Amino acid sequence: MNQALPEIETMYNALVNKDSNFEGIFIVGVQTTGIFCRPTCTARKPKQENVEFFASTREALLHGYRPCKICTPLGYKGDVPDWLKPLMDEITNNPDIRLKDHDLRLRGIDPNRIRRWFKKHHGMTFQTYLRTLRISHAFGRIKYGDKVIEAAFDSGYESLSGFTDSFKKTTGFSPNKSTQNQIITITRILTPLGPMLAGATEKGICLLEFVDRRMLETQLTRLKKLLKAELIPGANNHFDELNKQLKEYFEGKRKEFTIPLVVPGTSFQQKVWSVLQKIPFGSTRSYKKQAEIMGNPKAIRAVAKANGDNRISIIIPCHRVIGANGKLVGYGGGLWRKQYLLNLESKNT
Ligand SMILES: [Zn+2]
Repeated sequence: MNQALPEIETMYNALVNKDSNFEGIFIVGVQTTGIFCRPTCTARKPKQENVEFFASTREALLHGYRPCKICTPLGYKGDVPDWLKPLMDEITNNPDIRLKDHDLRLRGIDPNRIRRWFKKHHGMTFQTYLRTLRISHAFGRIKYGDKVIEAAFDSGYESLSGFTDSFKKTTGFSPNKSTQNQIITITRILTPLGPMLAGATEKGICLLEFVDRRMLETQLTRLKKLLKAELIPGANNHFDELNKQLKEYFEGKRKEFTIPLVVPGTSFQQKVWSVLQKIPFGSTRSYKKQAEIMGNPKAIRAVAKANGDNRISIIIPCHRVIGANGKLVGYGGGLWRKQYLLNLESKNT
């Protein structure tokens, strides 16, 4: 049994509930049919005694299973599919673009297909996605000195009031307040441990959390308050670099992250987070030791609490802190993920 997998019970429940948060985390082999599936497969669910769990499709194949024709587990779900890639590149290069159904058909794309894909993967319609991109682009321009009216017309709005309404609806404030406000752009990032929610301001990454983390809502609310910012889905320059560095990390090729971080918090929290960042790749430390390094050996609980309040998982490596007895205690993303990260690091030290 692979140590990196969640508990059997957890996985079987996810399978029965077609829980998409477990996509990319496990693959299930059905012994009675010899077929392997994604957790979200819509085929009838097998009995628990007839399933076998694997961490990857590769392992399932090595055990002699064939891929299911319904859920096609060999494709990486959530990744941009081939038919959509050229369009996504076009949108990235031109965030102000407007695309009606007719424009999509001209590009050989079925408008219904793209609507379904966006609803499923971004939880919003394709048109909303385009609008948030246009607005966040316009926000960036106004914040750095462009006139509201220029940004409005360049974003393709025919009237200033139309632009203002749309802007307000997306950000919660009017365009001329852009210089005093901030936007946190959010996006989903796929990792071998499941999807994560990433957030960034123009200064750097301010959020990286597993989407199934219980605290996520609370963290988002706190972050909005601390940065006086609204969350909007979209693109941000820091995301490309984040994706790249995370990928290298999970491949065992990166030991340190070099990406700007935005970590608002109390001075105590900031101190704890900066001490965390000094624990080298592949090593662990106890909460007690952390408290000692901070010159406050009695503050073990406060240190543990501030660790738990870390909003930038993996990059600020709170997974490297363990109990004094060497046990893996407490991890927001779940202990099995902590174990996976520590295994990954010790293998590549
Ligand atoms: Zn299937």
